[in-house]
Amino acid sequence: MKCPCGCGRILELLLIPEAHPRWKLTVDSGGRPTLHPSVWVKDGCRSHFWLRQGQIEWCRDD
Ligand SMILES: [Zn+2]
Repeated sequence: MKCPCGCGRILELLLIPEAHPRWKLTVDSGGRPTLHPSVWVKDGCRSHFWLRQGQIEWCRDD
């Protein structure tokens, strides 16, 4: 998936089954993906967001 902040970075977390922590992707009856837990890009743009039912929900710690 592409980073939703618009920085253009490709987040490959779904392609790495050994990645830690491991994300759980569920798809509801409408085909909308939900990702758990939240995604935190620890370098570069430092985005922190949830993907819930196909919608990006931003986390803001400050
Ligand atoms: Zn970004």
